Amino acid sequence: IFLTFEGIDGAGKSSHIERTAQAFRDSGRCVTLTREPGGTPLAEKLRALLLHDAMDPLTEALVAFAARRDHLVQVIEPALARGDVVISDRFTDATFAYQGAGRGFDWDKLCQLEQLVQAVPALEGLGAQHPEAAIRQPDLTIWFDLPAAVAAERLTTARVPDKFEAQPGAFFAAVAGGYARRAEAAPQRFARIDANTSREAVWQQVADVLQAKGWL
Ligand code: C5P
Repeated sequence: IFLTFEGIDGAGKSSHIERTAQAFRDSGRCVTLTREPGGTPLAEKLRALLLHDAMDPLTEALVAFAARRDHLVQVIEPALARGDVVISDRFTDATFAYQGAGRGFDWDKLCQLEQLVQAVPALEGLGAQHPEAAIRQPDLTIWFDLPAAVAAERLTTARVPDKFEAQPGAFFAAVAGGYARRAEAAPQRFARIDANTSREAVWQQVADVLQAKGWL
């Protein structure tokens, strides 16, 4: 099972990711818990560049997908081949949301990079078998949907902002729109969670989704 969590900053993914990993472990599964950008030593270096260095939008998209390629090759594909549950805090949908919708990078070019980097033939040598799909995609994406204004409010006191979080609310609204667009294009892959509620009510929604899949 390849499971990703997505949503704008401040949507409250982190604690639910931990809890989801624990729930799978409690049911006897081995869990590989990882994140993007990052997840390998090389990709973590690229993450630092991506979050803090100014660069033109194409460079930013290429760095994001370079990090993803390393993450897929080094961590995600081997873990799926072992039969682990792979849980990633963000994946390709975040690149569409942040670099595409947020920074205005061409959506179709991101689609091309996605096809290139996640192509099954280019991953098969790693032991993965997934003949049903042309590209590696999550089996399920848990999308924490939150109004941009609420997210901005939550973040003002929460932590030191990176270059994306330091931007005004309009940026978050655009990013949220990017997630909505991806969800519309792949409704069977996305589970929308209403993140504008209590932590416990959010967890209940996540647990319901995982139970409906028969995974927990
Ligand atoms: O998942 P997390 O909130 O830790 O992500 C760290 C930061 O990376 C976020 O603040 C987000 O602004 C940024 N990011 C990005 N492009 C991505 C993924 C994340 O700019 N594709």
